[in-house]
Amino acid sequence: MRILVVEDEKRIADFLQRGLESAGYAVDTANDGAGALDQVHAAEYDLIILDLGLPDIDGLALLSKIRNRKASPPVLILSARDQVDDRVKGLESGADDYVVKPFAFVELLARVRALLRRGQPTPERLQVGELVLDCIRRRVTRANENIELAPKEFSILEYMMRNRGRPLSRTMIVEHVWDMDYDGLTNIVDVYIRHLRSKIDDKYQTKLIHTVRGIGYMLELPETQPERA
Ligand code: CA
Repeated sequence: MRILVVEDEKRIADFLQRGLESAGYAVDTANDGAGALDQVHAAEYDLIILDLGLPDIDGLALLSKIRNRKASPPVLILSARDQVDDRVKGLESGADDYVVKPFAFVELLARVRALLRRGQPTPERLQVGELVLDCIRRRVTRANENIELAPKEFSILEYMMRNRGRPLSRTMIVEHVWDMDYDGLTNIVDVYIRHLRSKIDDKYQTKLIHTVRGIGYMLELPETQPERA
């Protein structure tokens, strides 16, 4: 899941980026409207967090430019303007939600998760064999045993489970889990896959994570093999 934060106040942008990244999202930031439009053209986002007060363009004008695009992700407006008028205008201009500054990060995160769920009618629980990932509680179990994963490990596993049976390149995995600054250093994926394997596969006879030569990795339950610890 990839989020674009459009915010000119560096302190807030950094705070959001850090918080969202530790919640397992890939986050890019833009500090003005022009930069935001460039980013929106360059990459696919699952959600945009948009500050209304930007130096070069009014946030609502930017919102309508974003909305004019074919594929437009959900937009969460972030603003110090707490008047009802602005709130209504924002929602009328096509924003999906509205958070007033100052805000508590946990509240923002809850709204982000709700919007991402809404934007994507995906199951809240993914299962491959006896491996179960609960997207809401962010818990993973295999054969009913709890597995502790770091946020990035969770994100990679979620991405692989959503795409089960489909070979995923290292670049695809990087783009879904890390931000744009993460330039081509795809071998970090191998490191994370190694961690994931040691947590979800090593002690089980049936291996779920497979190396696909020349491409990357795939998660799938091999056929006709009983699941046994
Ligand atoms: Ca601002």
